[in-house]
Amino acid sequence: MIYQGTARYPVTEIILHCADTRPDWMAGQSLADKVAEIRRWHVEQRGWRDIGYHWVIDRDGAVAPGRRETEIGAHVESHNRGTLGICLLGGYGASADDPFEKNFTGAQAAAVKRLIGEIKGRTAIGRVSGHQDYAAKACPGFRVRRSGLGT
Ligand SMILES: [Zn+2]
Repeated sequence: MIYQGTARYPVTEIILHCADTRPDWMAGQSLADKVAEIRRWHVEQRGWRDIGYHWVIDRDGAVAPGRRETEIGAHVESHNRGTLGICLLGGYGASADDPFEKNFTGAQAAAVKRLIGEIKGRTAIGRVSGHQDYAAKACPGFRVRRSGLGT
């Protein structure tokens, strides 16, 4: 099991997000630089202590860590304890009902499936959901359950 924070909340859910960025956002720059830019938004603009997400997935399927999994994230209001936030780059202008393929790449689909499977090997995930399941938002820009990624 993965436990978060000093209260040791067991991690039982993965919540998917998008970065709400255009497909060519920071194209040609490293994923580390892209993660640093999102971290800067969260720290400087929102006043958080770190990037809100635990994982970030680039357009080419590369995966980079954000906030440590053992720390409570900042990605869904009132659902941060015991959840991990995965952010897919892209999704700018997406609607809640868009098919995954409209806003994200096949490499991202493969990467997020792989990452979910890998996390399930380390903690007892009972649910994979999307930000839109908890807030009136389009994020992540597809219905997680319908996409086949959800549970
Ligand atoms: Zn979100």
